[in-house]
Amino acid sequence: MTEKPREVDVAVVGASLAAAATSKRLVDAGLEAVVIERKKLPRHKVCSGILSPRGHRFLLENFGPLPREVLHEPTSCRGVTFHFPSMRELSMDFHGGPTPHLHRKYSDHWAIQRSGVEVLDETSFLGLEDDGERVLVNLKRHGEPMQLRARWLIGADGPASSVVRAIYPDYPKQIPWFMVGQKFHPIEKCPLDPDYFHFWFHKDLGHYTWSHARDGRQIVGVGFDVGRNFHAAQQKVVDYLREKHDVHLGPAEDPEGCGENFGLSLINRYVFGKGNVAITGQAAGFLNMMAEGMSCAMHSGAIAGEAVVTASRSPKPLQAIYRQMIASEVRRCSDQWNPLMIAFRNPHEADFKAELAKLPLRDRLGIVREVLSFIRLYARFKWGRQILGQAITRMFRGGYDPKRWI
Ligand SMILES: Cc1cc2nc3c(=O)[nH]c(=O)nc-3n(C[C@H](O)[C@H](O)[C@H](O)COP(=O)(O)OP(=O)(O)OC[C@H]3O[C@@H](n4cnc5c(N)ncnc54)[C@H](O)[C@@H]3O)c2cc1C
Repeated sequence: MTEKPREVDVAVVGASLAAAATSKRLVDAGLEAVVIERKKLPRHKVCSGILSPRGHRFLLENFGPLPREVLHEPTSCRGVTFHFPSMRELSMDFHGGPTPHLHRKYSDHWAIQRSGVEVLDETSFLGLEDDGERVLVNLKRHGEPMQLRARWLIGADGPASSVVRAIYPDYPKQIPWFMVGQKFHPIEKCPLDPDYFHFWFHKDLGHYTWSHARDGRQIVGVGFDVGRNFHAAQQKVVDYLREKHDVHLGPAEDPEGCGENFGLSLINRYVFGKGNVAITGQAAGFLNMMAEGMSCAMHSGAIAGEAVVTASRSPKPLQAIYRQMIASEVRRCSDQWNPLMIAFRNPHEADFKAELAKLPLRDRLGIVREVLSFIRLYARFKWGRQILGQAITRMFRGGYDPKRWI
């Protein structure tokens, strides 16, 4: 390669919501930033698109009112309904009312455009060399090799992050992965309330089972272990819905799925990068208990951007700044998994305990038993001591242990 690489202040990998938030901070501060996205924009993203109230506020405050075309039908979601094997159910409304049902293909592109950042789509990140002063970024654009030289690089490239792999090649082998997949079905009859996201605490169906309405069809999705048969697992849920909930669906269409880096926020094992490279969004491990990842992607992305802006004006290294600033978002996200916070405080944006308290005692006890029996599914990860250790540290020291971050 003979051409001299272009010099920029910041290269951001991935054109998603974390990147949009990062870019907003960088552009507002006058830094020259370029977003690198491997797909052609606007790009598809596997996601239910149910935004939390906090995520909604972030979008409004940073990018303005949402245009209709960034939403699916139904355009909003009132909250979550939990279903249990006993056929008990519990619906919880989001604090502050319904939130937008985002069409990720268009919402992410809209947010990126609103940030004002320059984007190179159809450009893949391949690798990097950080010499301590600058990061040489190796890319492939339209099939041709290309390079950028950036003062800083931010990896906002999602759960299977190539940036994380570039700096920690063994990291993906050290963490648990599970697959999620969904199919879309024409609706013949569906008594499930379309204004809610439905989730099953049912260990025979799988460790993450959901359904919701979208654009006139019903999504049925399932989490399953790597190597297991997605189609069989998903069909089992469809059959269960027919038998137990009187949901009658047409043949499945448009199957899709992806791998998820599971539980890093549960055990406070985030990866924030090294040197001039910062990792953010789900790539860093931000994903909350309901697999809601958009609000923490945006908030962590904004913090990564602010950390770079601060580093550009101070002699302090980026990592020291970022790790100090990100502690608040770690608290937010990890609190939502923390059994002590759930028992004694209210870290979620819908009030499970208040809804539970409205039920007769017998149902309350029944639901608690069913939740505990479901959680046993996760015992195979053998994380009990780590979870308890982090939960106690948070309760009594006010934060999670930053020494566990990578
Ligand atoms: C089935 C499913 C349902 C979900 N439902 C919800 C929900 O209802 N609500 C919610 O809040 N969250 C949900 N999530 C989680 C949410 O989608 C993610 O947590 C969130 O999108 C993470 O945002 P991000 O910005 O960190 O990265 P991502 O959204 O993963 O985006 C990463 C971007 O990086 C790009 N990229 C990757 N590698 C490269 C490379 N080498 N070079 C260049 N670009 C690259 C990708 O193409 C992508 O555009 C769901 C996830 C799944 C899988």
